[in-house]
Formats: sequence, structure tokens, C-alpha cells
Amino acid sequence: MKTTDANSANGRMHPVVLTDFDDTAAAQNVAEMLLNQFGDPYWKDVRQSFRDGHISLKEYQEITFRNIKADRATMQAYVKDHANLRPYFRELWGFCQSNGIHMAVVSQGLDFYIQAVLDTEKVGKVPVYAVATEFEDGEITYHYNYTIPGKESAGNSKGFVVESFQKEGAYVFFAGDGHSDLEAARVANVTFAHRNLADFCDGENIPYHPFEDFKGILVAVRNYLLNTQK
Ligand SMILES: [Mg+2]
Repeated sequence: MKTTDANSANGRMHPVVLTDFDDTAAAQNVAEMLLNQFGDPYWKDVRQSFRDGHISLKEYQEITFRNIKADRATMQAYVKDHANLRPYFRELWGFCQSNGIHMAVVSQGLDFYIQAVLDTEKVGKVPVYAVATEFEDGEITYHYNYTIPGKESAGNSKGFVVESFQKEGAYVFFAGDGHSDLEAARVANVTFAHRNLADFCDGENIPYHPFEDFKGILVAVRNYLLNTQK
């Protein structure tokens, strides 16, 4: 996994910004938006099985998207009209670009709808660590490239992605909202949390900053940079 060498010369850890996608980078849960529009009417029953702990997030997503009645282009067009990024995402991306800071989306969601939103918002170059999909003859094939060795069946791990950057000397700022973000919040250097993730962090005494949009992270990363340059 590539990171920038910016700021490593002074011996301090270089900042890396990682953000969840659905309900965090995006103002909406885009996966659920697609399932509501194109999915099998029973997709919420599958979600309940997942919430009750009977199936994994990976299984929930694969089952519900298997039954979807739309091709990739149709879903991407829908997303472009109905989803948008949260405020200050673009400003943060611009700041990171200007200062050689790696910023990326880390998601348990599917790459094609994430990319559609990023492209629409003119930030299509933001790297994405998500579930890679291939569409062929109406079937979706899923590829999980960020799994914990030995735990491949669980799908991608956000904690694994955070720790991969930290092994290269990164100081990781992470933002998220849900249960799949918890393992990242446990290991990130600075966590911004909202919705369920804030409750999970409270439950485990994980320190976090409340997240509403990306302005707080922009300020935090800028301050970190100022302090490490002193
Ligand atoms: Mg989320």
C-alpha cells in the first residue's frame, strides 16, 4: 500500500486521512439507496439477519446485490443524481493534495457506486479501498483485497487498512459512523465518529472527536502538520 513520504524527514509520523464512505464521506447510505430503488423487496429482512448477527456484512451485501435488478450503468446514473459528499470533503482533499498527504476512502461498500459519487463531485482521483466488483452477464463478482491474513472469509478489514499505513510510519486520522468502522477506530491515531460508531466508542472508552462534516478533520490535520513542522 503506497503512502507519501511527506514529513518523514523530520522523524515525525506523516499524517494519513482515511474515511468511511456510506453515511460518512457520502451524506447518504448509498448502498441502501440502491437497494431501496433496485433491490429485492425483502432486502431489509436480509439486513435484519445481519443486524441480528446471523450473517456477516459480506454475506448481507452479496445476497442483497445479487438480487438487484439493474446493471452497473443504471445504478451509477442513479447515484450521480441522488448522492453527494458531505461538506468540506473536497476542501480536505485539496488540502491533502497540496501538502502531499495521502487521503483515501476505506469502505466495506462496493467500488462502482463509490467511484460514481467521487467522479460526480470531481474528486475521482481519491484512492478507494473497497470491495472490488466485476459485472458480467448480469452477475456481480466480488473481490476482497484488504483482508486479514487467515480471516479472508470475513471480507475486508478497515482495521487491517489502518494498520497497514501505520506500519509504514503513518499517523492515521480516521472518520466513520458504523459497526464496520469500530475495528479501525480501535487502532487509528485520531478518530472522528458519529452515529453508531460514537456509541460503540463510548462503550469501549475509545477517544473520538464528534464528526459532522470534514471541517474538523481539516483543522486537525492542518494543526498536526503545523506542529510537526515546528
Ligand atoms: Mg458508514
